[in-house]
Amino acid sequence: MGDSVTTVVVGAGHAGLAASHFLRERGVDHVVLERGQVGNSWRTERWDSLRLLTPNWLSRLPGQDYDGDDPDGYMTMAEVVAFIERFAAGAPVRTGVNVTSVRRTDEGFAVDDLRCRSVVIASGACNVPVVPDFGDLGVHQVTPFDYHNPDKLPDGGVLVVGASATGVQLAAELRAAGRHVVLSVGEHTRMPRRHRDRDVLWWMHETGLWAQRYDEVDDLDRARRLPSPQLAGGLEVDLNTLTDAGVELVGRLATVRDGVALFSGGLRNVCSLADLKANRMLAGFDEWAGLTDRVPLEPTRVPAKPRLRLDLGGGEIGTIVWATGFRPDYSWLDLPVLDDRGRLRHDGGVTDIPGLYALGLPVLRRRRSTFLHGIEDDARYVVDHLIRTSRGTFDQSVSEAR
Ligand SMILES: Cc1cc2nc3c(=O)[nH]c(=O)nc-3n(C[C@H](O)[C@H](O)[C@H](O)COP(=O)(O)OP(=O)(O)OC[C@H]3O[C@@H](n4cnc5c(N)ncnc54)[C@H](O)[C@@H]3O)c2cc1C
Repeated sequence: MGDSVTTVVVGAGHAGLAASHFLRERGVDHVVLERGQVGNSWRTERWDSLRLLTPNWLSRLPGQDYDGDDPDGYMTMAEVVAFIERFAAGAPVRTGVNVTSVRRTDEGFAVDDLRCRSVVIASGACNVPVVPDFGDLGVHQVTPFDYHNPDKLPDGGVLVVGASATGVQLAAELRAAGRHVVLSVGEHTRMPRRHRDRDVLWWMHETGLWAQRYDEVDDLDRARRLPSPQLAGGLEVDLNTLTDAGVELVGRLATVRDGVALFSGGLRNVCSLADLKANRMLAGFDEWAGLTDRVPLEPTRVPAKPRLRLDLGGGEIGTIVWATGFRPDYSWLDLPVLDDRGRLRHDGGVTDIPGLYALGLPVLRRRRSTFLHGIEDDARYVVDHLIRTSRGTFDQSVSEAR
């Protein structure tokens, strides 16, 4: 039989480390198991030029605020890793430990050979890029995990599929490097970098929109699946800016047939809907500020006749970048806790298996849950629940009041 510990945290990203912060504060004996190094996702799964889209003043973790001299700047990946490494100081992290199995036992769980009473799953929401399977398309294909910079791609044009944060950022970078870029745009979340004279995320933060609780959100399932906003650290990357730079917009990629990519004809509709939602959000900010005039966004300029077909074998495109989202990987979890789409079933981070918790998933307890500054409330709640339940004294009303 292997060692035992009270709690095992899987993953040493900021979410797992935040759990460790509160477990240490409350004197709970635990380990954090990490397959790579601390902050592994930021080190190994991001492209070279990426900066946080959240400004530095928002980069805060429990007990650790940004203390540099550029509060309005946006961290590079090296800076994020350093920020997370600093946060990890004193945490009982075992690096290079890949968890391959979590099972129930009479006393709790077995995490591979390690016995424990409770487990916090903080293994990340973005472990695997989601890529539609169209087979061999005869062109180079990359996901955001394989993409590093424009020079690493074969010569030729690039079809970027997906217009969330990743897609618009990569389209902008590739176009700036002189590539011909076609951007396939499905449902997206438009967000200007600035509204009036402030960063749009200042408005999200100050109005309390980001702090909205999961049980107050109208359509939680939808909120958890919302595309990430069209934002980049310090740059404007909305579709009009991309059009001005020479990126060609086409509709959602519907399918690939006989080597021809077929795009939806609904580009104008998805853009109108995104414009409407963005303007509604900005109007809400203005109302909160007591401002009665409105500063609507310029409507997204959609080509009069966006093309509906692109022959992938015709030489125009050398690479497809699949910016079509990410999903978690729970292949190591031997517990009946996934729904029929493979998503973890939980209520605000508490699963229906006693002692099993999650952190770092979209809108876990608040709209801001997956962001660096969003982890504090979630991790405090989950650790509180874990401790009180193990003592048989959990009282939701007390914990919620904190
Ligand atoms: C491209 C991109 C840009 C983002 N930009 C921002 C931003 O600007 N601002 C912001 O606040 N947030 C941003 N986020 C969201 C979020 O902050 C990150 O996704 C962050 O990495 C999530 O932290 P986490 O701790 O939940 O997960 P992760 O950082 O992914 O940490 C999970 C850890 O678990 C480990 N792990 C996984 N499986 C196992 C296993 N079986 N055994 C052992 N270890 C395991 C992984 O190696 C990893 O280190 C971004 C996300 C992405 C994908």
